Amino acid sequence: MSDLSVDPIEHELTPQPPHSTGGAKVEIITSRDVPLGGLRSMRVKRTIPQRQRSLIGAWCFVDHYGPDDVAETGGMDVAPHPHTGLQTVSWLFQGRIMHHDSADHHAVVRPGEANFMTAGKGISHSETSTQDTKVLHGVQLWVALPEEDRHMLPRFENYAPEPVKFDGGEALVFIGSLLGESSPISMFTPLVGAQIIVDAGAEVALDVDPTFEHGVLLDTGTIELEGVAVSRSQLAYTGVGEETLTIKNTGEDAARMLLIGGEPFKESIVMWWNFIGRSHEEVAKAREEWQARSERFGYVEGYIGHDPKGMDWIPAPNMPNVRITARKNPGPIARPDMRIG
Ligand code: MN
Repeated sequence: MSDLSVDPIEHELTPQPPHSTGGAKVEIITSRDVPLGGLRSMRVKRTIPQRQRSLIGAWCFVDHYGPDDVAETGGMDVAPHPHTGLQTVSWLFQGRIMHHDSADHHAVVRPGEANFMTAGKGISHSETSTQDTKVLHGVQLWVALPEEDRHMLPRFENYAPEPVKFDGGEALVFIGSLLGESSPISMFTPLVGAQIIVDAGAEVALDVDPTFEHGVLLDTGTIELEGVAVSRSQLAYTGVGEETLTIKNTGEDAARMLLIGGEPFKESIVMWWNFIGRSHEEVAKAREEWQARSERFGYVEGYIGHDPKGMDWIPAPNMPNVRITARKNPGPIARPDMRIG
C-alpha cells in the first residue's frame, strides 16, 4: 500500500517513569478515513501513525479496510511505488490481492496468510485486488526496521499459520510467539502479530510478553479489553508491564481482532510518504531516486492496473517546504484519558 497522507512524522522517544502492573490501563486510538487512491478511491481506516501515538513496538502503520463491495469501491489498485526501511504486511479476511515487486516476487495474497515484504534499502511494488475478488476486507501494516537491518537487501516471505485453539476461541499467529505457537517469519526487533477469534460470550486471558506494548484492532463483533469497550476499527492500546490481557466478547456473535505488539522501538525515525529513514536528507534522497527511477527501487514486472488509462507508477508528492522536524512518540504506557468517544 502507498501512503497518500504526507504529513511529516518523526518520532522521538523520551524516558518514562516506572509503570505499575496488573489491571491493564487501555488507551483507545480511533481511526481516521484516508483515501487509498486507485480507480474510484477505496478508503481505509488508519489508526497509526497519528499524533496520539505513532508506534506500537516497531509496528508503525495500521490500515483497516472493508468489507468493501469491489463493484462499488473499485477495489485495490495501487500502482508501483517505493518503500525503504520497513516491512509491509498484508493480512486479508476476504478477497485476494496480487502482489508484484521489483525483487521479482509475485504472490497472490489470500485470507489467513501473512505476506511480509521487507523493503530494506529499497524496493518497489504494486498491489491490486484480483479480478475474481467481489469483496475486499483486510489490514495492511508496516513494521519499522532497526538501524542494523534497515539497509538489507529486500526479502519476501509468506506464511499460513495453523489455527491454535484455546478455551473460548482460536488464533492464527503470523509473527512472533503467542499461545505456545511461533511463526517462522523474520523479525528484526521482538514482535508479535496474530488474528484472534473470541467466541460469543467468552472471556479469555491471554498470556503476553510483559516487555511488549500491545494493540488490539477490532475487526468484527463487540469486545471489552480489560473492561474497556472497543469499537470496530479502533486500536486498543496497552503499555509495557502487562502479563495477561483479558478480552471479553460482550456480543452474540464471534468477535475477530488482530493483536499486535512488540518491544518499544528505541530509535527515532523519520517517516514520510512510503519511506522510513533517520533524517530529512535521507528521505529527500530516497524521493529523488524514486523520481529519477533509479536502480535502487528496481522495476516491477507484471503490474496490470484496473484502469487502462491509469498510471504505471506513482510519483512521489513534493517534499514539504519546511524541514521535517521530530514528532515525539509517547512512552509505552497507556493513557486512558486520551480516549476519544
Ligand atoms: Mn506499499
